[in-house]
Amino acid sequence: SLMPVLDVFDKMESEVRSYCRSFKTVFTKASNAWLWDRSGNGYIDFFAGAGALNYGHNNPRIRTKLIDYLLQDGVTHSLDMATEAKESFLLRFHDIILKPRGLEYKVMFPGPTGTNAVESALKIARKVTGRTNVICFTNAFHGMSLGSLAATGNSFKRKGAGVALGGTTFLPYDKYFGPLIDTTVMLERLLQDPGSGIDHPAAIMLETLQGEGGLNEASAKWLRQVEAICREHAILLIVDDVQMGCGRTGTFFSFEEAGIRPDIVCLSKSIGGYGLPMALTLIKPEHDVWNPGEHNGTFRGNNLGFVAATEALEFWRTTELERAVTAKSHTITRFLHRMAAAYPKAIAEVRGKGLIQGLVFRDASQASALSKAAFERGVILETSGPRDEVAKLMPPLTIEEDVLAKGLERIEAALQSLLG
Ligand code: PMP
Repeated sequence: SLMPVLDVFDKMESEVRSYCRSFKTVFTKASNAWLWDRSGNGYIDFFAGAGALNYGHNNPRIRTKLIDYLLQDGVTHSLDMATEAKESFLLRFHDIILKPRGLEYKVMFPGPTGTNAVESALKIARKVTGRTNVICFTNAFHGMSLGSLAATGNSFKRKGAGVALGGTTFLPYDKYFGPLIDTTVMLERLLQDPGSGIDHPAAIMLETLQGEGGLNEASAKWLRQVEAICREHAILLIVDDVQMGCGRTGTFFSFEEAGIRPDIVCLSKSIGGYGLPMALTLIKPEHDVWNPGEHNGTFRGNNLGFVAATEALEFWRTTELERAVTAKSHTITRFLHRMAAAYPKAIAEVRGKGLIQGLVFRDASQASALSKAAFERGVILETSGPRDEVAKLMPPLTIEEDVLAKGLERIEAALQSLLG
């Protein structure tokens, strides 16, 4: 039976899908990949705060830094003013992330959320180029504010805007028409054709792997081709790495393997290290055309975010998380292919890479049913895709091997109960 507080939630929540409806319990504690509820039930977390908890719940190293900072009366809120915490973060971000990858970006704090990073990217691209249109892709997800929603290819979510959304043109993402049709040929042709009706764009914005859109992955070749088209037509390339960044796919940035150099990169979610709200917009120095005060916001300078983010970078570096992600991703890939082979009538495909992989169900309702059955067995697992047809496995990158194995066993039992 439900706790009274859930009845309160139910009364307050609108009809929009929400996690509190799917996971009907009251959580009290969390540690790395475990969550516990008020009754003491343990859940293995394959959701990881929608990608905000790559370094685990209550990562002890980050927690210690936060507690120390608070006990030392560190500045918590400073807007745009310089603080030591901000300085440390910028220096370490440069040394640990940008410099070794030969990347040169100016770092901007656009506000607390991923959506803020996307909005600032759209604005700067429009300001730099003096153009309005932005090309984005089928099944893209970029956020819920009006600019980012205009770039989001989900009609259900777009309807929520309540106003006409504009300034974007949607074109087919990689493999939208299946593996044989190269959609960059279409992109190139439409951009060259004065009769296509596509206004010359300020930017092309993309996710390298669409997290909310159903784990559709662009190939390295497709990404390089899109980059080449951007260069040829003087269009800025924006990579939204809000969900795939910070190590989710194995490398720190999801575009590293493809070797592309976006003009603008959006980061959020796990950059805050501890589930704290924080976002970054990385801008090639030549595109930094902001005037002071042109893009502001009260919560741009969250110093607890800086402290947590700095230690998260150290954690990333010293624990060699990349290697651990690769090993664990193989375990998940093997497991998912075994499940797909066991239930070929129900499971159409295995998708994703790194520690974001999933099962595509032929009957979309089975993905939600799996989420429910998994929850009953102590696993938090969400769905994604235009019809919520993909069950998405996205544990913290730090999940212990034995916890991962136990989580997969529970998912297998849930699948067995549904399909066996
Ligand atoms: N871009 C991508 C790729 C995302 O996955 C998300 C969040 N799911 C956002 C932007 C928006 O981030 P936020 O929810 O923090 O506004």
